[in-house]
Amino acid sequence: MPSYHHLTVQETLDTLQTSKAGLSSIEVTKRRTRYGWNELPVAKQRSWVLLFFRQFKSLMVGILFAAAFISFLTGHTLDVYVILAVLLINALIGFIQEYRAEKSVESLKKMLVQQAFVIRDGQKTGVDARDLVPGDIIVSSEGEVIPADARVLEANNLRVNEAPLTGESTPIGKHDVAVSDETLLADQKNMLWKGTYVSGGQTVAVVCHTGLQTAIGDIAQTLSAIKPEKTNFQLKSDRLAKQMGMMAIGSTILFFIVGYFGKSLEVEELLLVSIAVMVSAIPEGLPAVLSIVLAIGSNRMSKQHAIVKDFASVETLGSVTTIITDKTGTLTQNTLTVRKIMVMGEGEFEISGEGWLPAGNFYQNHVIVNPLEFPILKRMLQVSANSNNAEISFGEQKDGLVPIGDPTEAALLVMAKKAGIEKDFKRYGDLPFDSQLKMRASLCRGMSGKELFVVGAPEKLLEKSGFIMSRNGPEEINDQVKAKIKGKIDQWSQDAMRVIGIAFKTVRDSSIDAIDENELDKLVWLGIVGMIDPPRPEVKPAIEKCHRAGIRVIMATGDHINTAVSIAKKTGIIGAHQEETELLALTEQQLLRLEEAEFDEVIKRVNVFSRLTPRMKLRIAERLQQMGELVAMTGDGVNDAPALKKADIGIAMGIMGTDVTRDAANLVLADDNFATIVRAVEVGRVVFTNARQASFFLVTTNLAEIATLICMIILGYPVPLTAIQILWLNLVTDGVGDVALATEQGHGDELDKKPIGRKEGLLNREILPFLIIMPVLMAMLCIVVYLWFYDEGVAKTRTAVFITMASTQLYNLFNMRSLKKSVFEIGIFSNKYVTGAFVVSLAIVILITEVPFFQTIFLFEPLSFAEFLILVSISSLVLWIGEAYKLVSHKMPLKSIPSLT
Ligand code: ADP
Ligand code: MG
Repeated sequence: MPSYHHLTVQETLDTLQTSKAGLSSIEVTKRRTRYGWNELPVAKQRSWVLLFFRQFKSLMVGILFAAAFISFLTGHTLDVYVILAVLLINALIGFIQEYRAEKSVESLKKMLVQQAFVIRDGQKTGVDARDLVPGDIIVSSEGEVIPADARVLEANNLRVNEAPLTGESTPIGKHDVAVSDETLLADQKNMLWKGTYVSGGQTVAVVCHTGLQTAIGDIAQTLSAIKPEKTNFQLKSDRLAKQMGMMAIGSTILFFIVGYFGKSLEVEELLLVSIAVMVSAIPEGLPAVLSIVLAIGSNRMSKQHAIVKDFASVETLGSVTTIITDKTGTLTQNTLTVRKIMVMGEGEFEISGEGWLPAGNFYQNHVIVNPLEFPILKRMLQVSANSNNAEISFGEQKDGLVPIGDPTEAALLVMAKKAGIEKDFKRYGDLPFDSQLKMRASLCRGMSGKELFVVGAPEKLLEKSGFIMSRNGPEEINDQVKAKIKGKIDQWSQDAMRVIGIAFKTVRDSSIDAIDENELDKLVWLGIVGMIDPPRPEVKPAIEKCHRAGIRVIMATGDHINTAVSIAKKTGIIGAHQEETELLALTEQQLLRLEEAEFDEVIKRVNVFSRLTPRMKLRIAERLQQMGELVAMTGDGVNDAPALKKADIGIAMGIMGTDVTRDAANLVLADDNFATIVRAVEVGRVVFTNARQASFFLVTTNLAEIATLICMIILGYPVPLTAIQILWLNLVTDGVGDVALATEQGHGDELDKKPIGRKEGLLNREILPFLIIMPVLMAMLCIVVYLWFYDEGVAKTRTAVFITMASTQLYNLFNMRSLKKSVFEIGIFSNKYVTGAFVVSLAIVILITEVPFFQTIFLFEPLSFAEFLILVSISSLVLWIGEAYKLVSHKMPLKSIPSLT
């Protein structure tokens, strides 16, 4: 592969047959056919054949094979076929479920496409990163992942983090100068590598290699598939499965012993039935059900604009106890509009106009004025427009303009445009907004040669200002003036305005081409602007929901404390009752002054933190986690990535965020909206409840079967169900039923409970009464039916017991849809899958008990229609008793029974 690091900029462009104006669209198409798409194969696909055979790997399957073998040795060929059929069907169901789950993860991942900015036909446009071809000119800035291997053409304070490729996490400065031919990859400071990211500054570069030709593509080819980690949830269910497995083996041994001494069965037959009992008692359907529950959950979340990147997070979301959120864009609408400007010496101005449309007037004392007649104001507008990386462009929807880049900068640009001032000064260097410094700067050709234009948080800027602009030029700034400006900042920010300071300075040394952070001092103060950003209307109710659900909401913002408090009050983060008595908010400076113990105390109570740096955000999250909180945290900038990784649930923004945060996050909000987080938490809780209820459906029916069998054997009767019959119940009735339960929607009360404990097992006190009452009731019904039909011969008795067992299980489906609410309250037909499972399973029961062909296989004897109807009717007792229990327990909650696992 050709290398480019030893070539000059011009030589590189020539070799790649391109120019700084970019390729033409025709050329791009041509090159695409030659080089293909710029993409890496997704982590090696697990083949579906493997997936299918993996279904046979469980213990249960081993037992079934053993059962088939024993049947074969003892000459029960029919049993052998049935067992093998059961095996196959079971594997098929498991396979289909897992396959679908896997597909749905893949399609979710596809929703997170990476964008790249490219210059083509002389125009800068955003494209899908997989569209790039060698020769494309790309523009990348802070927070963006480099979309392909590229040679730097221009670098502005460019620092790149190459950890994804080299493991080295200190950012590396990059430049456009050729380096020696022998330079190693890691030292090629004029090359950018796909998959690494810009941690600061900006660059224009030319794409050299794409897709598998890139350095990371080379590595990707040798990487094998990543092994999916077990979710917390799977661990919980493994634990449950193990407990149930032990119980199964225990009861099988008991059954065998009782049967052996009871002598009601041949030993061979007894062995077969014992194995069937064991097989049905092992909840082998559990893993498949769980993956389907999680897949359904993540699909539902994506419909709510919450894209979950891994299954584990679907479940973790249900347990979130604290949400740490940004303010701008997440709680607010992010349609920033400058309303006020104050310039010392020229007074205060108001600006009209809405949204991103650059049309509006400047007013002074309610009279329209021409802003260009005010020299300081004019200068301030020039600085705002030119120290600015945003653009306003026509959106894809016909109705409007959208900001490209940082909305704060876009708002400043719109303000300047309203006065007819454009971004047209020559620019030498740029320092993009840095959330640590809380300012940005551009080095431009200004009125008097090179000038540094600085925009940022006003107090920070004021600290660095030595002068203030007057009509006679810069004058030294004194404390009195500073105090006056600070008073204004306080006042505006109390009105929930985002306040920005504007300053500049003349650069004497004309050879300087880059901005040094240390040079940002002795600035000449110009003035402040105040912009509004109203809260999103849906946020307040969402925060109320959080509070009801036992979830604490903390605002962590880089903005001014007054603005933060004001928005916190408007959205309900600070409640009305807190306002007088408590400490409402703290700044980073105040936090830094606290002792460790005080710090902990404060972060337990205070819900608003302002002027925070990403490092402090990380510290707060870490301390809260140490205190046992399960933390979900949002972030948008490059520096937020470590905090997002650290949080239990890292949340990135789909629209305004950076690639880096989206990579680090577990959850991406497609609409950047706080309310979406709350909806995702709600779905997370539904997922947990469904998993719990589907598991217990399995457990309940298994217990009922065992209890019936053991009772009858103890009483000295022939075994009530044959091996094949037991296997069938276990496979079909249970299998269809629990998948149906997995699809249950929430019942609107998920957010009325406390968060699910991280350690809370699937088995808890809520379910325990059902776990005792239901199996006992089912077994009793079966025994009654058994004794009732006993005189009509063993085959008919078994048929009757089979029908009773199957239909009690089916009624129990409705019990398990909600442990608290009556099915009549949530709508008996509201889950069409459950209704479907009920109808279909019942139809199959009729089919196999009535059709002669199946009768011979299963050893059934037909019942009359009336008998059938009676059995199905008395089985419905399961539902009525379940309902009665819900009614009673609603009045006296069973608080005293502790959680079991
Ligand atoms: P947040 O996003 O939580 O509001 P930031 O850290 O982004 O906080 O911003 C902190 C402060 O820095 C803002 O109050 C504003 O004064 C200033 N600021 C924010 N973005 C920009 C920007 N793009 N250019 C200049 N100043 C900015
Ligand atoms: Mg911000």
